[in-house]
Amino acid sequence: EEWKEKGAAVSTRQEIDQDGRPVPRIVKKGVKDFNFGRTLGEGSYSTVLAATDRQTLREYAIKVLDKRHIIKEKKVKYVNIEKDTLNRLTEHPGIVRLYYTFQDERSLYFVLDLASGGELLKSLKKMGTFDVECTRFYGAQILDAIEYMHNKGVIHRDLKPENVLLDDQMHVKITDFGTAKILEKKSNGSNQGAEDPLDGMESERAQSFVGTAEYVSPELLTDKNACKASDLWAFGCIIYQLLAGRPPFKAANEYQTFQKIVGLEYTFPDGFPPVAKDLIERLLVLDPVKRLPIEHIKTHPFFEGVTWGKGLWKQKAPRLK
Ligand code: ATP
Repeated sequence: EEWKEKGAAVSTRQEIDQDGRPVPRIVKKGVKDFNFGRTLGEGSYSTVLAATDRQTLREYAIKVLDKRHIIKEKKVKYVNIEKDTLNRLTEHPGIVRLYYTFQDERSLYFVLDLASGGELLKSLKKMGTFDVECTRFYGAQILDAIEYMHNKGVIHRDLKPENVLLDDQMHVKITDFGTAKILEKKSNGSNQGAEDPLDGMESERAQSFVGTAEYVSPELLTDKNACKASDLWAFGCIIYQLLAGRPPFKAANEYQTFQKIVGLEYTFPDGFPPVAKDLIERLLVLDPVKRLPIEHIKTHPFFEGVTWGKGLWKQKAPRLK
């Protein structure tokens, strides 16, 4: 009966959009439409495999989630959040795109962009540190993707170099939206235009800790609240880490890391580039309202010379240095 879904005409030919990416079809894809290949990685509830569409020969990464395990560990909510957010964020080259989802008796399948370059963290570990040019390029691509998701009403809440994947061109593909938050659209039309850094703040209900200790924002620790600006705190931590080779707040355990964060206890290594230091000091600000907003980050001298928007994604990635 899927053939008659929503009364739309059925096409068996694969349509291609402006960017040469396949347009999701009405006829549902299934396990049998793919050739599964090597394992790209394993998560706590999932295995990610390289796969090829038998019809188009296009390569994907397919995340396979074990239904029984997800139900047993009460992670159904997170799987749904991941699917719902990715379905909202399909038009940006800097975010891993979800093409199809399907299931069989045992598993759920998410068909995603293949990020063959692996995690940004892996590249950073190999290099030790990035130079200013590489940090500017990767920082700009990450920020451009954050701006897009925030405009679409999504807060990531777990940005870190492990969740920044790289494609075959060594361009950024942000992933792991399982702990993201979708903001409800304001219906009364107020606050249009003006950006509210506290967008997404939940006042009543205390939330449980989401994210990774080293990148967690002080407002999440003190008020149990994350907002759009919380992603910019994490962004500041990432810029610092790319240049210094280690995150700004790191201790022997989570508790001590949290203490450093709420106390804004961090220092810059000798020789840290002053312009980058200035940017980071405007991002690692305890009060989320006072954190530099995206529009001002883009015009900060650290990002001088960067072409924002579409052009940023047509650029050749600098050789890692
Ligand atoms: P956890 O669920 O424990 O937090 P995770 O979020 O890393 O782990 P997955 O999303 O299943 O779990 O990813 C597992 C691994 O597969 C990741 O470490 C990542 O390196 C790799 N991976 C994930 N998505 C892709 C992709 N689209 N392309 C290439 N590799 C990927």
